[in-house]
Amino acid sequence: MRASEGGAHEEGGKHISGGEKLSSHEQLQENIQYLVDKAFSHPRGTPDFFQLKVEEIHEPISFTPPLQHELHNVSSISEGRELAKKFLSQCGIASHVIEKSFRYLQQHFHVRGAIIIDSETGIRIDPRVDRGVRVSTFDWHDASYKKWLKKTGQQDNPRMKEALALSSKICSHEKTVAEICWSDDPDYVTGYIASRIYGYQRISPLKEHGDEQGGRILFVKDIEEIAAFIHYLEKTPKWIGWEE
Ligand code: AMP
Repeated sequence: MRASEGGAHEEGGKHISGGEKLSSHEQLQENIQYLVDKAFSHPRGTPDFFQLKVEEIHEPISFTPPLQHELHNVSSISEGRELAKKFLSQCGIASHVIEKSFRYLQQHFHVRGAIIIDSETGIRIDPRVDRGVRVSTFDWHDASYKKWLKKTGQQDNPRMKEALALSSKICSHEKTVAEICWSDDPDYVTGYIASRIYGYQRISPLKEHGDEQGGRILFVKDIEEIAAFIHYLEKTPKWIGWEE
């Protein structure tokens, strides 16, 4: 799903909201309603353009377990961003690449998907300019999500549910080194760094309340064919959870 205000994205409209679901036929209506509600109740504004695409999946859907998660409450945004940089550096990313990625984020807040950069050079390698890459065809497996809530004692939080599932798909690819994200929702100031080694490290706050600027960067390595990596992100179906 994608929704914008002031016309479609490609006509210069402002991005309001996007969303992806992986659904059984039985849950299709419920999931479509979820995406409609998400688009039309977003604090970034009221869309006048809304598009929804439904595609049938023919290949088998494999399972990926959710990343381990941890929350770090910090006393200021600068402390939050320093901590984010520390996690990225612990993933083996050089400080000049980390600085470059923060500059990228700040100059590309209008991009509505993820920006992919080479973790060794800091050079952007996806060809999607203003669109970025929307990770899709993933979702929590219902039974696993219930199990996960019980096991971790977490409250049901749709935002974290979505972001953790997204990161778990991204980080389960061997070429992903790390991911950084903070939301473009002005009411949501928590962001995170995710990686296979350190899991999903939430940091709050990572931006000012009221700030509509957010984005996502994926750090990858040894990518020979970017098209194959993008295909994995967009098209390879994944249930997040455990196969019973
Ligand atoms: P959100 O966490 O949904 O507020 O999104 C924060 C930023 O991450 C957005 O501004 C987009 O640039 C990016 N983003 C959101 N959803 C996706 C997705 N499914 N795939 C890739 N990037 C995304």
